[in-house]
Amino acid sequence: TMRGVTRDYSVGSGFARKQTLRALRGVDLGVERGKTLGLVGESGCGKSTLAKILLGVEEPTSGEVLVGGKPIQSYDRIERARLIQPVFQDPYSSLNPRMTVEAIIAAPMRVRGEGGRSLQAKVHELAGEVGLPRHLVEAYPSQLSGGQRQRVAIARALIGEPEILICDEPTSALDVSVQSQILNLLHNLKRQLNLTMILISHNLAVVHHLADDVAVMYLGQIVERGPSRDIFEAARHPYSDALLKAVLPPRAGVRLPEMGLEAEFPSPVNPPSGCTFHPRCQKARALCAEQAPCRTDADAEHSYRCHFPNNLKDEECPQV
Ligand code: SF4
Ligand code: MG
Repeated sequence: TMRGVTRDYSVGSGFARKQTLRALRGVDLGVERGKTLGLVGESGCGKSTLAKILLGVEEPTSGEVLVGGKPIQSYDRIERARLIQPVFQDPYSSLNPRMTVEAIIAAPMRVRGEGGRSLQAKVHELAGEVGLPRHLVEAYPSQLSGGQRQRVAIARALIGEPEILICDEPTSALDVSVQSQILNLLHNLKRQLNLTMILISHNLAVVHHLADDVAVMYLGQIVERGPSRDIFEAARHPYSDALLKAVLPPRAGVRLPEMGLEAEFPSPVNPPSGCTFHPRCQKARALCAEQAPCRTDADAEHSYRCHFPNNLKDEECPQV
């Protein structure tokens, strides 16, 4: 659970005046145990910053992050690694090229002082569970395909039996044909092990079948959040619409202007006034540039930040 999490970075050096880049702006986000949350948005929207904060790699500037009801800072590094494990985008750079697959998968346990035959047996068992052929356990990363490397990274994340798995673009470096295999694997493992999963992607299609809930992020804010089926069938926010149109057939292949996203992704250093999506929003009216929309609940599970959401009757619209 995150409450009011904000993360600022100082940018600019030399003669340039220091500026503040607000990567996260008051993010509230909860994930229920054993559920998968899909976190979706364009690159630069703050998804990866959010992942780093959850992993304890970075501290929030303000706000709090609770894991299992306790502030994340109250766990030490080892406890945190026990609870939360990452799977990153690039299986090429995240595996040590000088270690065998077996050593890579076992590494988190060796850090904890475990070893011996029982660890070796566990590595082999897990390698099987993630679908790695037996003989590859002795191989080096350079001998593996991208998909196989990502299976190794997943096994390494799982060996310590974490409760939460944070997958940041876990398939975007892989061939399309391999992507769905890896997503299916994550889905099955999550169910088998009752993991809580946060699946981060720029692509709504990637989270479609895996996520119980979806949060759509824009410029450091959650602009819509709800059960996956509500987001896919009844999105309220124009930005969610645009993301949906970009990925769902038969509209695949629509050009960016038709999505209403022709304008550039704005700078988080100098975000637009009012609703930060307004320069790119097809539904924007005068009010949008003036006033930031508050969070509105469509129902107990579904909320959004927009003055003029889909399915809003005219008389319910703010008077401008
Ligand atoms: Fe578009 Fe206005 Fe809604 Fe922002 S508040 S998403 S600009 S309609
Ligand atoms: Mg990223």
